[in-house]
Amino acid sequence: MIKIAQPQIGQEEIDAVSAVLRSGQLASGENVALFQREFSEYLNHGFCVAASSGTTALEIALRALGIKEGDKVITTAFSFIATANVIVHAGAIPIFADIDETTMNISSYSIEQILQEHDGVKAIVIVHLFGQSCDMDQIQKIVNKYQLLLIEDCAQAHGAEWEGRKLGTFGDASAFSFYPTKNMTTAEGGMVIFRDEKAAVYASQLIQHGIKARNQFEFIGYNYRLSEISAAIGLCQLKKLDRFNFARREHAALYDENLDHVYIIKPQEVAGARHVYNQYTLRIVNGMRDAFIAHMEKEGIGTSIYYPYTIPEQVCYRATDLLEKEYNRRLGVSNSIKHEVVSIPVHPGLTLFEIERIITTINRF
Ligand SMILES: *Cc1c(COP(=O)(O)O)cnc(C)c1O
Repeated sequence: MIKIAQPQIGQEEIDAVSAVLRSGQLASGENVALFQREFSEYLNHGFCVAASSGTTALEIALRALGIKEGDKVITTAFSFIATANVIVHAGAIPIFADIDETTMNISSYSIEQILQEHDGVKAIVIVHLFGQSCDMDQIQKIVNKYQLLLIEDCAQAHGAEWEGRKLGTFGDASAFSFYPTKNMTTAEGGMVIFRDEKAAVYASQLIQHGIKARNQFEFIGYNYRLSEISAAIGLCQLKKLDRFNFARREHAALYDENLDHVYIIKPQEVAGARHVYNQYTLRIVNGMRDAFIAHMEKEGIGTSIYYPYTIPEQVCYRATDLLEKEYNRRLGVSNSIKHEVVSIPVHPGLTLFEIERIITTINRF
């Protein structure tokens, strides 16, 4: 079976974890501190706070920027559900925008439409979906025009760029995930990066019960800390990230060149974006997706649908009173593309032989 995702763990990670276990310092030690510094150096930007997951990193991004009860926050309808959940966890109201058909990223046209209809929008949470940048020229224009806070969900976009600048450096805050399917992993884990040092200091309190000094708690916070074990893995993975992304891009280039099927639309790397292919996502048209997945499965090739549903149509959102009435009128592209998308293996662990087999299998469909 060729898997859709496969974490790349080497002897370095195993040795680093062993060293932490032997040291006796399993939490709040030098690995976490170093991982924060090195991540910030990698992006050449801002102030990092490590967190227990991408989701908690995103939540403290919102909270440390002051997003609170009753605020309106625009986000994409087409993402992993965590992107919207954190808005609700912060007490705010998510307003779902549609996507651009080519990139499947949040549509700036749809954002503007919402801003015309709604007063009191405080922030936008954008997602660089599958590893490709949103149109940051458009997004920044809107953010400046309407004086909004910008949060980047970079959970799938470690090392990706827009016009030569790394993603995660555009927002007031940006969050990364290190879940095993991402471009780098710490098992579970996340990182949030702030432009403003004061917000980062607040966030580092927030992840430790609002601690100010030993035994002094300034406000009610959480335990959202990353462990030393995870941070030690992260330090090794960060050193390999550019190599991982290079391999993902090479695999994607082979698909770009060689996949050829009348029912299949390939992903496009748009001008200005350096895609890091967390997913290589095809569109299978003419209602053929189920048949395609069955064909791949028969050949032992894993696929996965990101995403079969929009976020607002999930039961947990339909059951809330958070959805504004007009949202569904707005989501035409999301509601059609969700029936077509399917992702194929593109991870760095694939061999050339496997990629050739995937290409032949797809072209024979
Ligand atoms: C993975 C992911 C998250 C959540 O990260 P976790 O580490 O799983 O909590 C959030 N947003 C997007 C777009 C993701 O892909």
